Amino acid sequence: MSALSELYGEIAHCYQCEIAKYRTKVVPGEGVEDADIMFIGEAPGWHEDQQGRPFVGPAGLYLDKLLASINLKREQVYIANVIKCRPQGNRDPLSTEIQNCRQWLERQIELICPRMIVTLGRYSMAMFFPGESISKIHGTAQKRDNVIYYAMYHPAAALHQQRLRQTIEADMLKIPSLLTQTEIITEAKPQPQQLTMF
Ligand code: URA
Repeated sequence: MSALSELYGEIAHCYQCEIAKYRTKVVPGEGVEDADIMFIGEAPGWHEDQQGRPFVGPAGLYLDKLLASINLKREQVYIANVIKCRPQGNRDPLSTEIQNCRQWLERQIELICPRMIVTLGRYSMAMFFPGESISKIHGTAQKRDNVIYYAMYHPAAALHQQRLRQTIEADMLKIPSLLTQTEIITEAKPQPQQLTMF
């Protein structure tokens, strides 16, 4: 059994948060274990909770299209969420839930060792770009310890707000060149809060 599968087993036994009681399935994440790119969304929705897989509802179908625009399939990347259980009624994740779940995401990142982490939406962005605003930093990359961090709007936001569609699609198209030209992205000085993440 791979280290990642073992980790999924541990996540499935996690009941630290109240929402774990109400989940149909836990949604740890999925994709290739040595993926170059890791996409990190917010939290499972209804469809994800039913299937135990990330991004399989309408936002997921749109994410698949965005991936296809750069000639990638979801099987070639890794997709995870900040929290692994569905918040009831699709409410925003609580900070305690994010804190409790953080250990799982950190271990996933350690095991996958992606070259690039793409944050999808505010909650994911806040973990890697603390204090930033998505409207300001979407489509921009930062390199830290040789990993490229890249912030994008959440696909669901672009589905609901037509004006964000062009933006998210243009931001997605920048990914291939960022990956091939890692040396042109200047290494950012870690800020104190960032140091606490990794
Ligand atoms: N939105 C997310 O942030 N994650 C999913 O898995 C599905 C929708």
